[in-house]
Amino acid sequence: MQMNHKISSEKVLFCDLCRSPNKKIIDEEGAVVQCINCGLKYLKLRSSQKDIAVSYDYNYANYWRDFAPEAELMYERRCNFMQRFVRQGRVLDVGSGRGEFLGEVKKRGSWQCFGTETSSYALEFAKKKLDIELSLGQLEELNYPDRFFDAISFWHVLEHLPYPSRALKEARRILRDKGFLFIAVPNDSWLGRKHFFKNAFKKAINRLPLKNKLKLKKMYPQINEEGNKHLFYFTPRTLRELLKRCGFRIKAQAIDYDYEERTAHIERKYRIDSLICRLTGINFSNAILLAAEKKES
Ligand SMILES: [Zn+2]
Repeated sequence: MQMNHKISSEKVLFCDLCRSPNKKIIDEEGAVVQCINCGLKYLKLRSSQKDIAVSYDYNYANYWRDFAPEAELMYERRCNFMQRFVRQGRVLDVGSGRGEFLGEVKKRGSWQCFGTETSSYALEFAKKKLDIELSLGQLEELNYPDRFFDAISFWHVLEHLPYPSRALKEARRILRDKGFLFIAVPNDSWLGRKHFFKNAFKKAINRLPLKNKLKLKKMYPQINEEGNKHLFYFTPRTLRELLKRCGFRIKAQAIDYDYEERTAHIERKYRIDSLICRLTGINFSNAILLAAEKKES
């Protein structure tokens, strides 16, 4: 990606989940570290928030221009999941992008929709195409009233935030008692990792006395790759821990349907992964989905 300004970066000193400064490197090129105390994985070096916001604007203006009609199923499934727990009221979607999720919620007719977004391009798009009014800024800057919402969603947003715990505490403040939080993030457990099984197989082959070694797939993007960056890599366990520490009770865990296309193969995989998750609680898929309830203080 081409951007015409200098990128500044900041060092991350403490784990956002447990505050420990102790970490070990798990991927040098990607600058990914793991907290020795609680196991949370995060970037030890990251772009400043200003640069990240600029890169989202750039992406919305240049790449994510229009809706993919095939992605509708993804938003329908997320909306169905939410409605298993709350059926009406005020919903806030944090990091709404172009507003597709709220577009789906609006169709159901029983919700008052609110959303936040840091890209003004995305904001205009949501207004023009879906007649949805989003608020520009980070959640913590928008000062919503205490106990205002019945449901709050973070669809693949938490891993992009510099301090997920701050956003979750703010969400807790503005949720009514026993209000619901819905969160989806990529699954970074070894089970959910895209290249884990392929790499494990190649590593086994590479142990044989052969001349040419097989090249392993990269597990994390390199630090100098710009743009839509993940600052955290959650597993089902670290995400649950984070929510508990921020004052929530986990009510359900499931598979997030994180596909912008529809094929028979994806559908089969989704159904099998969902069934395994329902029966065993184990998530083999590429994305985690949680419902959590606000605990009274
Ligand atoms: Zn930690």
